[in-house]
Order: sequence, then C-alpha cells, then structure tokens
Amino acid sequence: MRFGLPTLFAAVACLLAASCAGPGTANVPSGASNNGRPDYWGHRPGPKGFDTVIIDAGHGGKDSGAVSGTTGQKEKDLALDTAKRLQRQLGGKVKTRLMRSDDTFIDLDVRAARASGQSNTILVSIHYNSSGAGVRGPETYYWRVDSHGLATRFQRALTSVSPAESGNRGMVRRRLRLTRNPDIPCVLLEIGYLSNPSEARLCADPGYRDKMAAAIARAILDQQANGDAGTGALPRPINAPPSRPSDPAGS
Ligand SMILES: [Zn+2]
Repeated sequence: MRFGLPTLFAAVACLLAASCAGPGTANVPSGASNNGRPDYWGHRPGPKGFDTVIIDAGHGGKDSGAVSGTTGQKEKDLALDTAKRLQRQLGGKVKTRLMRSDDTFIDLDVRAARASGQSNTILVSIHYNSSGAGVRGPETYYWRVDSHGLATRFQRALTSVSPAESGNRGMVRRRLRLTRNPDIPCVLLEIGYLSNPSEARLCADPGYRDKMAAAIARAILDQQANGDAGTGALPRPINAPPSRPSDPAGS
C-alpha cells in the first residue's frame, strides 16, 4: 500500500498540473487562523470549539506494535482498549470516530488520508511504548504549530495520573506520519512503556487505562473550551515535507 497505483497516478497528475499545491510549493495556506478548516502546514493557533475527535488506536491486525515481556500484552490490544475507553469518556460531550474499532491493520498513510480534509476535527493517536527496561513514563508527540497546545494539555494530563516514579518523558516535536501528514491538529500519545516491568503491570490494569483515558478526555475538553490559553508560547513553524515510510527513523 505504500506506493500503490492511486498514489502513483496522483503523483503523475501532480507533475502534469501547473497549479499543484504539493509540498514545497508556495500556494499552500499559511494563515494564522482559518476558522477550524483543514490547513496544510498547521501554522496557526490551536483549535477551540471543534466538534469531532478522531480516535486512532495504533497498530492492529498483522502489526502488533510493542509486546510486553512482562505481561505478554500487545500494544495493538491495549491501544484499542484505551481508544474505546476514551470514546466512552467523551460520549455526549463531543462527536467521536474510531479509526479502527477491531483488530484490523490500517496503513499509516490511509489513516492520515482519512483524517485529512475534516473541518472542526482533531486527531489523537494512542500508542504504548517500548525501549530499554529502565525507560518509563508517558510521552506526547506533535509536529504542527496548531497541535502544540493540545499536546501540552495531553502531557500534563497523562503525567498527573502516571505515578511519580514513572516520571515525565515530556513532549517531543517529531515529524511522523500521524503528526505531520493529516491537515488537521493531530497528536500521538505514548501512554507508557511496555518494556518497563512496573509500567507494563500498571498498563495491564483496566482501572489504570480508564484513568488515563479520563485524563485524555479532560485535555480534549479543556482544549475545546479554552483553545491554547495557558499552554505557553507557540513553537516556530517548520515547513517540512510530509513524513514518508522511507524517512530515517525519528525524522
Ligand atoms: Zn505504537
């Protein structure tokens, strides 16, 4: 799916079209605000008053993501469970859509394409992390300027629930396919490290996942009510091309 025919045709059509607004061209929106409509670069303040949240459970199907050596649990299952808990927490307060509602594989580019073009909508992608056994704590990834306030609220909320010894891995500005490519505010959350035995046991507890989902819901509703107020200065805009599967890791 990475370089399927539709992508190839689009690329050819783009080469033939004189006014193609692809990466690196000048005719992409860059205004400070465009009233909740999608924005190619995301160089605008964060959203306020949005009405829809796309909840993306990471991985799925043939892609298990991280697997805990302590509990044997798979990231794809924990992410889906947390996504559904978040949907329940947000019920009646804002419209929600699950990117996947079962154990299905969806390509990252397909996820980004499904989120793009939606008005008054944000995307939150839910993951569980993996690294050396000593690394632990929640982590929040964002890229777009309009996702900074939301990312700040998410990281604050997650660390308010995470036990003190897990620490705070903080916010990371990283150009990933689900932080750069959708043309709406989008943030990727790493709830905890399945590679750390004590955090893996915490994440195996449904009550803990429920508390984390409630914290994420609070952050979303705070952003919906208050926009970026109280989340600090906006980061500098970066005009970087969309993230591709062939990019070096971490770019
Ligand atoms: Zn993941």
